[in-house]
Amino acid sequence: MARRRRITRYNERIGPDLTPGMMTLTVFLAVAVILSVYFAFNAEPQKPADDTYVNTWSASDTNSPETSKPKYETTTVSVDNDEVDTGYLVLVNGEHECTFAEDGKIVLLYGNEDKGESYGLATASIACRSDVLDDLNRMLDAYMAATEDGGSIINSGYRTLEDQTQILNDRIESDGEEEAYKYVALPGRSEHHTGLAFDIAAQQDRTWLPQYCREYGFIQRYRADKEELTGIAYEYWHYRYVGDPHAEIMMTKNLCLEEYISLIWDHPFSDPYEFDTEGGERYIIYYVPCGDGEKTEIQVPAGMEYDISGDNVGGFIVTVDMGKTPETGDVTSEAD
Ligand SMILES: [Zn+2]
Repeated sequence: MARRRRITRYNERIGPDLTPGMMTLTVFLAVAVILSVYFAFNAEPQKPADDTYVNTWSASDTNSPETSKPKYETTTVSVDNDEVDTGYLVLVNGEHECTFAEDGKIVLLYGNEDKGESYGLATASIACRSDVLDDLNRMLDAYMAATEDGGSIINSGYRTLEDQTQILNDRIESDGEEEAYKYVALPGRSEHHTGLAFDIAAQQDRTWLPQYCREYGFIQRYRADKEELTGIAYEYWHYRYVGDPHAEIMMTKNLCLEEYISLIWDHPFSDPYEFDTEGGERYIIYYVPCGDGEKTEIQVPAGMEYDISGDNVGGFIVTVDMGKTPETGDVTSEAD
């Protein structure tokens, strides 16, 4: 509408009395328009190079078509392939063994001044990764505030190989092999080896925690409808830290970690998985397989906050915070 009104005014102004100069300009402009239309239709389409973020991003962008200038520059990050078994998204299950690569981050909770006061510990040997302690505290503080249950207890956190062997043997002794293998992973293949998993006992551990854990970066890892995929029977008490926004995606879309990681495997840099959080933040998530040699080159949008986690299988999952979504009115792009 705006464009039509503008053209009308222009015609009215120059229409009745064109000077020779204006005539020449008009003819010149007309030829220029015809030529550019001709070239636009006949030019070979520019095939974007496979590894350029700029071209591939604009293909799925919501920018208006006339904005040919890319919105984001990219930068390349080099990651050691050794780090494929590190990060919040490592997959540890019957098929993928834990390598204990992040044991340096394990801290005891008993007597730890950083431990929150809203929960107890079943034993003095409960430990976890230091970088998840804050979110664990926040979750269990919120649990206590919401439910007035001050009796939540962590029954298990980080486990060594020896711990897991002991647990499995004890369970076999008490319940028999069949029952034991339903719940207890083989040594080396338990998520508890990562330091990112917790068994939590609380009055409302089947209601409040499954509903709100995602707000603190946790997922309920072994759900009843996912036993076939996880290889572990329903454990309402087992929570795994995966961080933002992955917990929200998995819990709202009902994906277990196995399903979520294979979903991301299908999303390369050129076609990232996009997710808008309830809080109005847009993320893109994509997968980069390990490169040959010692390092993998990973492209990320320049100037954006990102996180890179190994999947403990064969590559890296890249998570980029793209800022506020268009709906919240605070993003630079203009969605149509
Ligand atoms: Zn557990």
